[in-house]
Amino acid sequence: MPELPEVESVRRSLAGAVVGTRIEQVRLGAFTGCIAAPDPASFSRGVAGQRITSAGRRAKYLLLGLESGDTIAVHLRMTGELVVVDHDAPLDRHHHVTFVLEDGRELRFADTRKFGRIRLLDPGAMRQLDRSLGPEPLDDSLTDERFAEMLAGRRRAIKPLLMEQTFLAGVGNIYADEALFSAALHPLRPGDSLAETEASRLLAAVRDTLQGAIDRGGTTLRDYRDGLGRPGTNQHYLQIYSLQAGEPCPRCATPIERIVVAQRGTKLCPRCQPSPSQ
Ligand SMILES: [Zn+2]
Repeated sequence: MPELPEVESVRRSLAGAVVGTRIEQVRLGAFTGCIAAPDPASFSRGVAGQRITSAGRRAKYLLLGLESGDTIAVHLRMTGELVVVDHDAPLDRHHHVTFVLEDGRELRFADTRKFGRIRLLDPGAMRQLDRSLGPEPLDDSLTDERFAEMLAGRRRAIKPLLMEQTFLAGVGNIYADEALFSAALHPLRPGDSLAETEASRLLAAVRDTLQGAIDRGGTTLRDYRDGLGRPGTNQHYLQIYSLQAGEPCPRCATPIERIVVAQRGTKLCPRCQPSPSQ
C-alpha cells in the first residue's frame, strides 16, 4: 500500500492541481532521510524555481516533471502522502518536505512510517528507472502473447511474480489477491504452469481489478489519501482481500483460507482457486 491505483489517483488529482505551477522553494523538516538522491541541499536547489510541467506515473512511482527536464520521483511506500494544501494548513512532525508553490499553496509530503522516498532524477536516471521496471499492466502494448512469454520459464509462484516490480509494474498484495481470485488461480501456481487461456484470464483480471480501483479513487484501508486529501472508495468493493479466514467465499460460500506466500498474508478460496498439489 499504496499500489498502482492509489498512485494513479494521486497523479490524476495532482495533474489538475499543480501542473503549470512554479515551485518557489523547498522546506525540509527534521527528517531528511526521505530525500534519497541527490543530497538534501542539492535536491532543494534543483527543484526551487522550477515549474511543474507534468504529473506522471510509472509502476508505483509518482513523477513530477520539471521545466529543467529533471523529474521528482516519489515512492510513497507504506504511509507516504503527497497533498496540496493552503499555506496556513497546520504542519505536524510527519510533514517532511514542503514544496512552496507560487500561488500560496503548498504541496506537502507526509509520512508517519518514514519509508517513502523522493528522488530528483535527470533524464538519464529517469530512463534507467523506467528500464528497471516491468511493463505497465494497463498498457495496450502488453498483449496476451507477451504476457504468456513473460510467464514461460518462470518457476516462481504466480503471486510473488505478479508483485515483482521487474516482472510487472505496480501490483502489490491487495490487487494480487483480488486478481488471482477473479481469475480463479491459486497463488502458489508456478508462473510457467499457466495454460495460455489461464494467462489471458489472469491478465484480464489484473486489468479489471486495477481499473476498477482507479475508477473508485483507490483503496483506503487506513492512511491512503489522494493529492487533494480525499480517501478512495474501492475498499467497499474488495472481493477477498478484506475477508477473514473462515468467512464465506463471495462466489461459492466455501470458507476463505489465509496462507502465507513469500512472507505476505494471502487470502484465497480453496474451491474456486484449486491448489497446484491437488
Ligand atoms: Zn469460492
